Amino acid sequence: MNPYITEELQALAEQARRFAQDRVAPGFQERDQTRVLDRAIMREMGEMGFIAPELPEEYGGLGMSRIAAGVIHEEIARADLSISYINLLASLNGQILAEHGEPEIVGPWLRKLVAGEALFAIALTEPRGGSDAANLRLRVERDGDFYVLNGEKTSISAADQADAAVVFGRTGTVESGAHGVTALLVPMDLPGITRNRFDCHGQRAIGRGSIFFENVRVPVNHRLGSENKGFVQVMQGFDFSRALIGLQVLAVARVALEETWEYVAQREAFGKPLVSFQGVSHTLADFDTQVEAARLLCLQTLWLKDSHLPHTAEAAMCKWWGPKLAYDVIHQCLLCFGHGGYDRGLMEQRLRDVLGFQIGDGTAQIMKTIIARTRVGRQAVPA
Ligand SMILES: Cc1cc2nc3c(=O)[nH]c(=O)nc-3n(C[C@H](O)[C@H](O)[C@H](O)COP(=O)(O)OP(=O)(O)OC[C@H]3O[C@@H](n4cnc5c(N)ncnc54)[C@H](O)[C@@H]3O)c2cc1C
Repeated sequence: MNPYITEELQALAEQARRFAQDRVAPGFQERDQTRVLDRAIMREMGEMGFIAPELPEEYGGLGMSRIAAGVIHEEIARADLSISYINLLASLNGQILAEHGEPEIVGPWLRKLVAGEALFAIALTEPRGGSDAANLRLRVERDGDFYVLNGEKTSISAADQADAAVVFGRTGTVESGAHGVTALLVPMDLPGITRNRFDCHGQRAIGRGSIFFENVRVPVNHRLGSENKGFVQVMQGFDFSRALIGLQVLAVARVALEETWEYVAQREAFGKPLVSFQGVSHTLADFDTQVEAARLLCLQTLWLKDSHLPHTAEAAMCKWWGPKLAYDVIHQCLLCFGHGGYDRGLMEQRLRDVLGFQIGDGTAQIMKTIIARTRVGRQAVPA
């Protein structure tokens, strides 16, 4: 128990854990092979109210807190990080659509998103780079009531499986930087869109790939936020997803720790349980401590968001610390299993899965720059 998780949220977590154990965990390793995201599970999650429950009721949501969304993310990620991407992409894109879209355009999409009938990607990164995100070049030109898109987005999660994407493109001059970017809701079945899939190290069920745009015509009413303000207005949504990512990867680390504590308590070497050696127990205790602390930071960040208080620095802390810590924890857990940990199995898949979040949604260096900038200002920390 902790001050953020009320009895009501604890009951929600237990409900999500039962679902995840019954429906998500059994296919964890198989999905890594087939690389297919199970749409039946997605729809079931929608029916259970597990997808973007924080969205307002008018859009099919339950009007719950962001912490409630975090609790669900944890339980689904514990069973399969790739499946919890459904929750993550829905919460991130759902917030962007609800806050910045025209209600008659985004409404039907949001209701499908929450019901688990539509998957959204977020398309920011381009071949020339992702860290300097405001320096993007995908061309977006106005032609009457349409925008015409030309260019490529790359390394996009769920690129080939998504039904629609929030796409960031350049409507201003290159020199206008972050102030010349516009965000659009783009259905993925529009003429001129082609997609591919990379062979990823982890997170293979959700996958990543490129989206190519060749004279793709998107109605102007699909714009999210104002023209040229896409970056400045819409990017704020990432503070939410950064805390959620922290909870996701730490949930994977927590289940790895639980299994490892159990294993080292029964496995013996030199006539004693492994855990009786401080080289084993203290290392795990050290990581267990850090995981508890990092999880509280993520919950605190969501609490700040729910309380409409600033949380940009905290969100960046969740995003660099969570994935780094989770990777180090699972690495140590794998080693505790000896040669068995090195076989294809739960631990090595978890290790591959969490690694992706040390890069995806911004690297540790970029997160630390955000923290520094929040503390001392943009002038002192330009990039
Ligand atoms: C699993 C995964 C999922 C992803 N999903 C998505 C998605 O859904 N949508 C999307 O748009 N993108 C996605 N990405 C792309 C991701 O956001 C970018 O890879 C990331 O922002 C880094 O960009 P880059 O790969 O171009 O690296 P670069 O920008 O080329 O950077 C390379 C290295 O240099 C470092 N570096 C760069 N600038 C600085 C600096 N100023 N100071 C210190 N170090 C610096 C970086 O930290 C990094 O280590 C995903 C990536 C992965 C791995």
